[in-house]
Amino acid sequence: MKPLLEIRDAHVVRGGKEILIVDDLCLGVGEKVAVLGPNGSGKSTLIQLLTREVLPLYREEPPVRFKGEARAVRADVRKSLGVVSSTMQDEITVHLPVVEVVEGGCFGTLGLPFHVQSTPITRERAVAAMELLGVNELADRDIMTLSSGQARRVLIARALADDPETLVFDEPCSGLDPEGMHYVRAAMRRLAQVGKGIVLVTHYPEDIIPEIDRVILLQDGEVVADGAKLEMLSSEQMSQLFGVQLLSECRSVDGDEYFSLVSSY
Ligand code: ADP
Ligand code: MG
Repeated sequence: MKPLLEIRDAHVVRGGKEILIVDDLCLGVGEKVAVLGPNGSGKSTLIQLLTREVLPLYREEPPVRFKGEARAVRADVRKSLGVVSSTMQDEITVHLPVVEVVEGGCFGTLGLPFHVQSTPITRERAVAAMELLGVNELADRDIMTLSSGQARRVLIARALADDPETLVFDEPCSGLDPEGMHYVRAAMRRLAQVGKGIVLVTHYPEDIIPEIDRVILLQDGEVVADGAKLEMLSSEQMSQLFGVQLLSECRSVDGDEYFSLVSSY
């Protein structure tokens, strides 16, 4: 597997405090992986290292390489990665047709940028992305009028519009009801099944779709475990990670494994 991200001895400091320390972590192109950890454990910071929105402390030997490149530029990174985060939804404050929001993904913006004309190619890409995720009927709707679950799927289509090889999800299901979660998780599966790499950051094992086989556990800004899903998602690991007694359940449906956490209180 070609490397997508290689991190060696990276220290991220914010507000005078080390918020993320990664000794050695590699992700491959096309790999399907989940990063699981409690709130504040550094998950979003790890994603920002990947997208190069955050840089680690300088070292002579560059701590982060993107596709083997120590000085990859943001534009190259944007071509390879489609990012969806739950906070993106809060950034939508204008009335735009859904298709334009999705098309904006071809330009790295939320909607079509000023002075940029839609082209048949970008429109076609937007429509293809919406079709793949089953949101094409929403194309002409005002994005502001959608339910949270619908809007989240539209944002996934937007991340897909420029045909990145890897999709990055930061807490994709937070704030959604069970129906919304169902469709967002189904959308992640669809993308995994058509061969996209998946980097999923979450605090819910329920988000970890069957196609993901590797799980990285993050706690207090450090990777505490990294390995096969079944081992990582054990009751013991989950209880230790989240600091309360948890029972991890794995259910097999039609040969696919689904995880959930149960606690008594
Ligand atoms: P997660 O996504 O797992 O919830 P984050 O990566 O957002 O965690 O943040 C990790 C830690 O870094 C948190 O404790 C957070 O409070 C802290 N942090 C994040 N950004 C800043 C900042 N700009 N200044 C100081 N602390 C920060
Ligand atoms: Mg976060």
